[in-house]
Amino acid sequence: MKLDCKIKIQDRQRTNGLATIKAAKGVVGLAKSNSDEWVLIVRLFKDTSATQYKLRNNVQALLHKMINNGMATVQIKTPSHDVQLSEANVESLKTLLSSIRLASAGNDLPSTIKSTSVNAVQKLQRPTLQLTITQVSDYPTLKGFPSTLEKLTINTAQLRTPVDRRIFTLKNLHTLDLSENNITQLPSKIEMLHLHTLTLRANQIRSFPNDLKCPVLKYLDLSQNQLSALDETILNLNTLERLILSSNHIKIIPRHLLRLLPQLQVFNIASNQIRVIPNGLAASGTRLHTFHYGENPLVTNKCITCQRFNFTLVELALRTVVKHRIPYNFQTLPRTLCSLLVKYELCAHCAAPCLTNFGEIFVPRQLSANGVTVHVTAASQSFAVPVQERYCSMKCFNYGLKRAGLTQMPI
Ligand SMILES: [Zn+2]
Repeated sequence: MKLDCKIKIQDRQRTNGLATIKAAKGVVGLAKSNSDEWVLIVRLFKDTSATQYKLRNNVQALLHKMINNGMATVQIKTPSHDVQLSEANVESLKTLLSSIRLASAGNDLPSTIKSTSVNAVQKLQRPTLQLTITQVSDYPTLKGFPSTLEKLTINTAQLRTPVDRRIFTLKNLHTLDLSENNITQLPSKIEMLHLHTLTLRANQIRSFPNDLKCPVLKYLDLSQNQLSALDETILNLNTLERLILSSNHIKIIPRHLLRLLPQLQVFNIASNQIRVIPNGLAASGTRLHTFHYGENPLVTNKCITCQRFNFTLVELALRTVVKHRIPYNFQTLPRTLCSLLVKYELCAHCAAPCLTNFGEIFVPRQLSANGVTVHVTAASQSFAVPVQERYCSMKCFNYGLKRAGLTQMPI
């Protein structure tokens, strides 16, 4: 039998702690030697040769506490090596350990365990983990992709919607780069993968499937596409740490962006149609540290954009729901109210929630004061961005106007 896994061999005699050997991909196998005894064969893919360990009366211990996580250690008596196995298939690892136990006691193994050979183990090729395709002629149209791929890059300008479905069957894939193609819709089958990095730069993407779920996605690059809005689908990807949306046609940054993407550290919205930055992005206490906003038609003058203080019963009720974190869903509240509740803004003075009635001003503010590194590409643009500030009441609004140097309203 043979088992692919990560392997680390440590010599128990050398316990000075200096030898910090890293685990590496390899294969372990069981073979019957010429003297009719079972041996353990261990080979790291980076080495050409394999190591053999006699098993009969030569196993000091089998450490298998973490076997259900695909980890175990075989302690050999002579030489005094610990063969540490990890990232192994759990069932195969259990079979291997029970076989080693039998062989170390001098028993023969059941006929279901087929003997391998040193030669066979040495001939094994390292599994293909990465594949980059930049020419159409390299595309594996007939033979398909190696199932072991962890990282796949296809920059051929040939991929279109629907994207080749074979990509979505690669179970080990964590990084997918489909930049510089002609894809028009983010493929919904993306959620069949466990991606942490998805790059779709320079395509023709205009739309998204609804309710896309990518539970471990950390990096999403949709720059140089045809997006006209920051879609709700993106706002549902709540594990995102880096979101790159430069060179699209986006007009509005959703006010609840950082509330829905609490892990976001880097946000790039340069070269779009943004006029103002919502107050939530300028707030302290978020993880955002880098914000690219250059080459947008930002408003330059401070101004009043809304003053609506006719408090309705709905506004007061919604404020109460937000303030006291009262749970709600589509069964208990109408859909329109639910969508309003997602998009609330906090008063820039007293932090009370504002939903449909508020006063609003655009006022230049230094984002860097909040620990956010701002990046501009045009030399003419200043580091002060027009922040959209909302105020919950006439009293708070007047405070904001005074701070911004605008004329106060009579109460
Ligand atoms: Zn207020």
